[in-house]
Amino acid sequence: MLHVRVEKRKGQETIDTLKNSGLINREYKIIKDNEYIYIPVKENILNFDTVNMDGVPSARIEPEKVSFSYDIIGSIAIIKGKSLEEAKYLSDFLKTRKNIKTVYLDKGISGEFRTRQLVLIYGVPVYSTLYQENGIRLRVDISKAYFSPRLASERLRIAKEVSDGETIVDMFAGTGPFSLLIGKNRECRIMAMDKNPDAIALLKENLKLNRLKGSIIPIVGDSGQLIQSYHNVDRVIMNLPHDAWEFIGMAYKSLKTGGLINYYEISDLTTLESRMESFRDMGLEIVYKRIVHGFSKYQNMYSIEVKKI
Ligand code: SAM
Repeated sequence: MLHVRVEKRKGQETIDTLKNSGLINREYKIIKDNEYIYIPVKENILNFDTVNMDGVPSARIEPEKVSFSYDIIGSIAIIKGKSLEEAKYLSDFLKTRKNIKTVYLDKGISGEFRTRQLVLIYGVPVYSTLYQENGIRLRVDISKAYFSPRLASERLRIAKEVSDGETIVDMFAGTGPFSLLIGKNRECRIMAMDKNPDAIALLKENLKLNRLKGSIIPIVGDSGQLIQSYHNVDRVIMNLPHDAWEFIGMAYKSLKTGGLINYYEISDLTTLESRMESFRDMGLEIVYKRIVHGFSKYQNMYSIEVKKI
């Protein structure tokens, strides 16, 4: 099955051109991913980037329902929220990309360590890969510890906001993407905690891969307990989007007056409103709030920054 691949910004123009020439294969629908639009065509067309899609399953999928939702981490692509059949179809697009060696279907993130249930769709069954983000290098193992590239812009925003000299607790540090980016750019001290020993082992490996200005102290354990040993902290990072609220009291106690919490939560609008009220009642001023990305029909992932007053 042939598709013409064009950058999104040229999508409509290309569709119009192909339509006028009668070249669009109307049996199939147009598909989009983050960068490109794929237009099904009847034949190879000169001057267009045509992708050969031989792996299309015989039972035709209605591609309007097959919006792309995937993450690329190093050489691994992870498809989300799709049936096995849809994932196979989408992996035919992904494997045309240079560098993609493995495609998995993510059947959900679960458990205390927030690890993924993965089904191999294409390529070699590899879980460990090297990932680069905003100038840091990260060894991740998607079978052992949580990692998502979707917070890259958040991590950069916070790293820019941190001042030299800050003491920071990264309560749910995982393999260390927040801590490492901050530590690379600022002379600060970061206690990077995680209950998952594999995440902390990867963080220790990542400390060797990056030259840092600051110091990062990796600690395995329950951060609700561990944080109680720290006082007068400048900043607490709370990236546990389904359960962070449980830990807000402990984070508050460790914070100095004027200190900040970078809080992440997946919630609907009603829950969000009640959080805002609770923050104010606790003596936390809301200094920043935005949607980082959508999560479900009624829920979004929110980034909220609050200051102890
Ligand atoms: N901050 C990392 C990132 O951006 O990739 C990881 C975030 S992940 C959503 C949440 C992490 O919190 C997981 O690595 C999990 O093991 C850890 N975790 C869950 N409960 C915890 C607890 N009570 N104490 C410490 N870590 C915990």
